[in-house]
Amino acid sequence: MSGASVKVAVRVRPFNERELKRNASCVIHMSGKSTSITNPKHTKDAPKSFTFDYSYWSHSSPDDPSFSSQQQVYKDIGESMLLHAFEGYNVCIFAYGQTGAGKSYTMMGKQETAQQGIIPQLCEDLFTRINHNEDLDLSYSVEVSYMEIYCERVRDLLNPKSRDSLRVREHPILGPYVENLSKLAVTNFRDIAELMDCGNQARTVACTNMNESSSRSHAVFTIVFTQKRHDAITNLFTEKVGTG
Ligand code: ADP
Ligand code: MG
Repeated sequence: MSGASVKVAVRVRPFNERELKRNASCVIHMSGKSTSITNPKHTKDAPKSFTFDYSYWSHSSPDDPSFSSQQQVYKDIGESMLLHAFEGYNVCIFAYGQTGAGKSYTMMGKQETAQQGIIPQLCEDLFTRINHNEDLDLSYSVEVSYMEIYCERVRDLLNPKSRDSLRVREHPILGPYVENLSKLAVTNFRDIAELMDCGNQARTVACTNMNESSSRSHAVFTIVFTQKRHDAITNLFTEKVGTG
């Protein structure tokens, strides 16, 4: 067993309309890996500085040289996760922050050019790498699931018509899992992109129905990536499974 490795990144998004209207001032500064925060009530005090693995300045626009784009975030975080998955490790990206902080934007992003988040970029990259495989003894399979936890209920976003919430159970060896959650096999990026859209729409519908302040929804997108190697000498198959 190798030790787990954790990396922490912070990101600042542009002001939203509400913040612009209220003439908000930005109290965050970033330089390299360090993020500093000024106390707006004591602006003369020295800012407090914190160091992270990555500090992403996305408060401005792409013409700013210190601006971090969706591609930059993917290159640093997503791509290294994908490489670990190819080595057979389980990987997990967890986005934390209050409502409107930019979690969905960072993880999923928007459909427009250059606005896609980590997950769609990672899925595209995954299939590009799979398609470049020339080793006939190596084959891959990809399965995805997508769920939402809202008001302590688990909803299957790839089967949004099923109204019932799913049960969380514990397997003696594999640990906690969601019973009856759909896990769909995908063979190309288009398949996975369609499922993602479908699931995202199922989320958005729920969002418009709930009021801002009570938004307490968490989404989990899981990719089960299996590599099968056929050993010509022993005629055995070995499997490497990574969950991300
Ligand atoms: P959360 O999922 O944390 O509640 P969202 O990702 O939905 O927040 O972000 C709130 C709003 O801010 C959305 O309209 C989103 O498009 C926008 N936004 C968030 N981060 C960025 C960013 N880095 N650049 C541009 N717009 C952003
Ligand atoms: Mg969100």
